[in-house]
Amino acid sequence: TPTIGVLALQGDVREHTHALERSGARVVTVRRPTELDTVDGLVVPGGESTTMWKLAEAFEVLEPLRKHIASGMPAYGSCAGMIMLADRIEDGVQGQKTIGGIDMTVRRNAFGRQVDSFEAGVTVTGVDGGPFDAVFIRAPWVESVGAGAHALGHVATGERAGRIVAVRQGALLATSFHPELTGDTRIHRLFVDMVKGHA
Ligand code: GLN
Repeated sequence: TPTIGVLALQGDVREHTHALERSGARVVTVRRPTELDTVDGLVVPGGESTTMWKLAEAFEVLEPLRKHIASGMPAYGSCAGMIMLADRIEDGVQGQKTIGGIDMTVRRNAFGRQVDSFEAGVTVTGVDGGPFDAVFIRAPWVESVGAGAHALGHVATGERAGRIVAVRQGALLATSFHPELTGDTRIHRLFVDMVKGHA
């Protein structure tokens, strides 16, 4: 059983914890650098990326997070967590930093300018069982992915059809939407398999 940490500075930590436990992981919360050494993978939750960034600096865990990711620790981020795992952000606040790791540009609050939250069908390559009923809350969209990253998930229907909303690069995974809020554990199961080295 892999041990997966949930970065517990801010955000929907409890929902990710439940989703991971239902997906066969042992779960611990992570706030301090030393706690990073105890996990096989890390989830960066949804929440507010500017707050998460400031708290990560205050807890002196931003650089350790970068080092662990650079040395291959698997990580999954939803929404604000997607922003945290992006190498580049548009519409961040002044000086906003991310952990980085995924060669992509995300636009913060991109959908939110049109409407704060909505649901849409999302197809994710390599995930069986049909489209996700995905929940978006002031979500980022992915403007572009670099050579090393793969656009895995797209909005399937409606005016936002075709927008990239899930990306994978090696052991790193990010979604604009919040599978931790809908009881659909397929993304968390994919991540647990990635941590085990089976996906
Ligand atoms: N808009 C938030 C941010 O910039 C993300 C919202 C969310 O995680 N639901 O971090």
